[in-house]
Amino acid sequence: MTLLELAKKQGKAKVAIAARVRGSLLDLSRPAPEDDAVQWVTAADPDGVEVVRHSTAHVMAAAVKELFPDALITIGPSIENGFYYDFDVETPFTPEDLARIEEKMGEIVRSDFPFSREVVSKEEAKKRFPGEPYKEELLADIPEDAVSLYKVGNFLDLCRGPHVPSSGRVGAFKLMNAAGAYWRGDSKNRMLTRIYGCAFATKKELDAHLALLEEIKKRDHRKLGKELDLYSVNEEIGAGLILWHPKGSVVRRIMEDFWRDEHARAGYDLVFSPHIAKLDLWRVSGHLDYYRQNMFGAIEVEGQDYQLKPMNCPFHIQIYKSKMRSYRDLPIRYAELGTVYRFEPSGTLHGLLRVRGFTQDDAHLFLSPDQLDEEIYALLDFTLFVLRRFGFDRYEVYLSTRPDKYAGTPENWAKAEDALKKALERKGLPYQVDPGEGVFYGPKIDIKIKDMLGRAWQCSTIQVDFNNPERFNASFVGEDGSPRQAIMIHRALMGSLERFFGVLVEHYAGAFPLWLAPVQVDVLPVTDRQADAARETVASLRASGFRAEGDFRNEKLGYKIRESQLQKVPYALVIGDREVTQRQVAPRRRGGEQLPPMSIEEFLGILRDEMEKTTT
Ligand SMILES: [Zn+2]
Ligand SMILES: [Zn+2]
Repeated sequence: MTLLELAKKQGKAKVAIAARVRGSLLDLSRPAPEDDAVQWVTAADPDGVEVVRHSTAHVMAAAVKELFPDALITIGPSIENGFYYDFDVETPFTPEDLARIEEKMGEIVRSDFPFSREVVSKEEAKKRFPGEPYKEELLADIPEDAVSLYKVGNFLDLCRGPHVPSSGRVGAFKLMNAAGAYWRGDSKNRMLTRIYGCAFATKKELDAHLALLEEIKKRDHRKLGKELDLYSVNEEIGAGLILWHPKGSVVRRIMEDFWRDEHARAGYDLVFSPHIAKLDLWRVSGHLDYYRQNMFGAIEVEGQDYQLKPMNCPFHIQIYKSKMRSYRDLPIRYAELGTVYRFEPSGTLHGLLRVRGFTQDDAHLFLSPDQLDEEIYALLDFTLFVLRRFGFDRYEVYLSTRPDKYAGTPENWAKAEDALKKALERKGLPYQVDPGEGVFYGPKIDIKIKDMLGRAWQCSTIQVDFNNPERFNASFVGEDGSPRQAIMIHRALMGSLERFFGVLVEHYAGAFPLWLAPVQVDVLPVTDRQADAARETVASLRASGFRAEGDFRNEKLGYKIRESQLQKVPYALVIGDREVTQRQVAPRRRGGEQLPPMSIEEFLGILRDEMEKTTT
């Protein structure tokens, strides 16, 4: 009896797509075990949906081979949310090709061909794939003598399986795009054409996923960055180097002002350091040994090598070392919006998220071991305060502990790990321990913030460091008068301003809250008659500290309102004849909500209330 027959007997044939027997995931065409040790796997199970996705890849390859008999087949695994299959073709597939392939897939699904399995010798398998060099290469790599082949309709593929029982059982799918991919991911190999598809158990899940993708596209900071005139990257300047336009710069200035004010309030000293330093400094810090591939090349100045800084740490250490420190001076906290330059291959650069020059909201804390607990708790508290201000209150938190190779003493490591743990627990933050994943110089906490769509972004990091104080001999005079080594903490809350700004744009879909909005109020005179009154309104809003602009173009009111909405300005004030005579304004919220006409003072009250709500 096959598993499928058993499933029929148990009334499970409609839902089961595969079965788990003693740990192995099997096709339903396989024989049923003597005992009852069968778990039915449905498309709703996590491993079931993977079977669905991978089976869809076979169906797609079948369609491609029918339409493009010369396409050479390679592999087609399931991936998150779908599948892909790589083909070697003379000309890459066009969107029209994809539409045809999708249509053909529909035919194969409707035909409900069984996925039939056959086990053959490798020798035999080679004969079954004439003119398919990639299959030959794959076969050569398989150590076993026998391999399994699967056939769906006319399409035969070499595969371990398992698959759904028949092509009619694949779920809902959609082909997304075709892109270049090297055979086996190696750039020395031939470039293949990869077709990506989404696949889910149900149409409803597929539609929800496609809607999410649409939303992600709408929120893409590169698209919004252009539409809202926030920033640009320019090939003449260089890849991965950001030009902040005036509107993006307003947001950055607000981020920086908030950051500096709060750091001063939290007991940090704000410092500045140069963008370049002698190469030797990076030898002492260890960066030349461990970090060189991420650094730009050296710059020769009067016979000496200099280096664009990839990090701010050594500068802060030198400020610390500029005089003798006593235990009474500690902790010392140096904070800097420090711009660093790191080499990233051009292929990995991505908008504001992955760049070559960026400003870290960096700080280095110098403390004695007995200050660890208190300092780390205060730091975590401060981090969450800053993240919340920008609208992030969902996190993924990771604690990384001592690796096999480490600097410092086991006692200090234990102390630091304990301090990090205690701080997380006292804050009530759920976290995941990554054992052995700490940097060699100390344990750390990483915080990923979750945006409106639930995507997690690595931003904050708190890292204890036992190594740099030793390398640079950063010490203090202890209570007993003898020199002791300081402990250092590196930390960044937003991570990099560029990246954090990119995440902010996507989080808010460009519709920044009032306190961050580059323009807070657009003043829109209906005709030229109200231009003077509108200018006065702009002036009084600005005098009250708000960022207001007037639209004096000779355009229809509807057009101006639409523009203001597209620019995601929180408020538009329409000024017509009635508003002029009654000395009132008619505010309209970004979302379209019309407020009753009111005096400018009343409107300022609304703005102040809203500012208060988001900034306290
Ligand atoms: Zn397969
Ligand atoms: Zn550092």
